[in-house]
Amino acid sequence: KKHKVKEQLNLLDQATAFYQQQLASSSERQKAIDYLQKRGLSDKTIQHFQIGFSPSGWDNLLKHFKNLPNPQLQLQSAGLVVHNEEKNRFYDRFRDRIMFPIRDVRGRVIAFGGRVLGDEKPKYLNSSETDTFHKSRELYGLYEARQATRNLSKIMIVEGYMDVVGLAQHGITWAVATLGTATTEQHLNRLFKVVSELIFCFDGDKAGRTAAQRALDISLPTIQDGQTVKFLFLPEGEDPDSLIRKEGQEAFEQRISQSLTLSEFFFKSQTENTHLESLDERAKFANSALPKIQSMKAGLLKQMMLERITELTGLSQAQLSSVVNLHQASHS
Ligand code: ATP
Ligand code: MN
Ligand code: MN
Ligand code: MN
Repeated sequence: KKHKVKEQLNLLDQATAFYQQQLASSSERQKAIDYLQKRGLSDKTIQHFQIGFSPSGWDNLLKHFKNLPNPQLQLQSAGLVVHNEEKNRFYDRFRDRIMFPIRDVRGRVIAFGGRVLGDEKPKYLNSSETDTFHKSRELYGLYEARQATRNLSKIMIVEGYMDVVGLAQHGITWAVATLGTATTEQHLNRLFKVVSELIFCFDGDKAGRTAAQRALDISLPTIQDGQTVKFLFLPEGEDPDSLIRKEGQEAFEQRISQSLTLSEFFFKSQTENTHLESLDERAKFANSALPKIQSMKAGLLKQMMLERITELTGLSQAQLSSVVNLHQASHS
């Protein structure tokens, strides 16, 4: 098993070199270079992230590895080749895409994300899950962020590959992206081993706002005193990459400094469209907010957030928790 993993990592490493080499010298390279230029990426950024290109055609990678003992099966178990059962044929998973290697904490490539050059669907494709690649655990850009700054103090969590790369291009080298999945507790625990402050910055669209709510729900029971979670919301239609290209580093950092803290975002979202002068709405608010705060780990932030509910409702903590606990018990 260990031997097999090593073999797989070696293969992924060689595939990375192959895709980089294709960007440097394949006959189709110009359209890939034009695309990366259109997205504003310098050679330095392309190198830093080891970005490459998979040419069109069904078997470029297969051909490149034809001297391996069993290229089809080896590339398949590395997540780079797909087997068509009906035709009993193997073909390259990534064709005509910009290639983003996904590296683990030690810098070893464990998978790829690939983006089409135009409007084809799907826009992004990830390697299939393998023994070494579990999508919901990994974070794109974490290795690169740690390379760029020896003692990171904070990390920004964004949605996409191009957000991480675009931010780095403009001097914000401490962003990471989940791989098309929602933020998980595993992600948070992994990141809090590296830094004590996380800033979520999702796209300024409906999906991004939903993702922020989810990140809040995951953060509440996970964080401890000493750990900070913040939220940066972007104007409608913008994502971190598009906005920093438009505004530049300084304006973006200005926005970062104005991010909402976890408790600010929590009370804002819990009281949005709520008339706290009305007893009925105050009760509804407390019934919704209290269980969420009770799910938090013991600590000062939790105490202060409970205190805030007493201020907003006019009830004592004892009154609040006796009623809300009863209410919850009768529903479970
Ligand atoms: P770009 O700027 O290159 O157009 P984006 O990152 O802004 O792309 P979004 O639609 O905002 O694209 O998606 C955010 C992230 O979600 C992507 O970077 C990718 O990781 C993931 N994603 C998006 N579309 C798909 C898809 N069709 N399949 C798998 N993952 C996807
Ligand atoms: Mn989006
Ligand atoms: Mn984008
Ligand atoms: Mn986006």
